[in-house]
Amino acid sequence: MNKKILYLDMDGVIADFDGRMKELFPELYTLPEFDDYEKRSDKIDEIVSQNPRLFETLTPMDGAIKAVKELFSLYDVYFLSTPMWAVPESFMGKRIWLEKHFGDDAKKRLILTHRKDLAIGNILVDDRLKNGAGEFKGKHIHFGKNEYPTWKETLRELRHVVNPRLRQLKSLINEKGRDDFGASGMTFEVDQLIKDKVYEEADRSKYDAHGRNKKPFFVDDNGCSRDIQFMLDKGYIEEIFED
Ligand SMILES: [Mg+2]
Repeated sequence: MNKKILYLDMDGVIADFDGRMKELFPELYTLPEFDDYEKRSDKIDEIVSQNPRLFETLTPMDGAIKAVKELFSLYDVYFLSTPMWAVPESFMGKRIWLEKHFGDDAKKRLILTHRKDLAIGNILVDDRLKNGAGEFKGKHIHFGKNEYPTWKETLRELRHVVNPRLRQLKSLINEKGRDDFGASGMTFEVDQLIKDKVYEEADRSKYDAHGRNKKPFFVDDNGCSRDIQFMLDKGYIEEIFED
């Protein structure tokens, strides 16, 4: 199966650049003069020029590391980031940061550019419209805004893109009710990819040598709801009972 190409912006999406700016120069967020984009930008250039290695040590955004680790298995992931031209250390810092948090999974997956619109792919997660992000030809998930305020909503959407039947599963379960769900034949409507994921992490002893469940998929010795609970615990179907 060919995976879709997913681009992830770094600052403001996986690395908390603003958090570090706030520590170094809180006035950037309080003084009205920095509402002006150019002034703000010049000040940031000045702060970073005095701390050129800060990119290596940025704190990850909440939930970002865990989410990206899962996304490596769902997508062909690349990091599409705009470094600071005036700060050559930023080019290096981003490379070091990625290896620090993702090891070999991030190897040769960093694309540094001021023209994100030239990157060919399916989805871009970016907190801004600058540097071509707003003109990206695929789907732009505007991180930090409206529907995607945090990684929780963003990851959910990205799971749905590759597993559209998650949504179907939600309506099926709502229709049948949680307790009846496993006993119905509808358990087999679950996407193969989710099944694979559950096989991968569940107790393998329950399955035969080919990885197939000896019993209908969700039915184990304790009844089917246990596996639904397992999927909920793992976050694969976390949104199902929120309604
Ligand atoms: Mg950004």
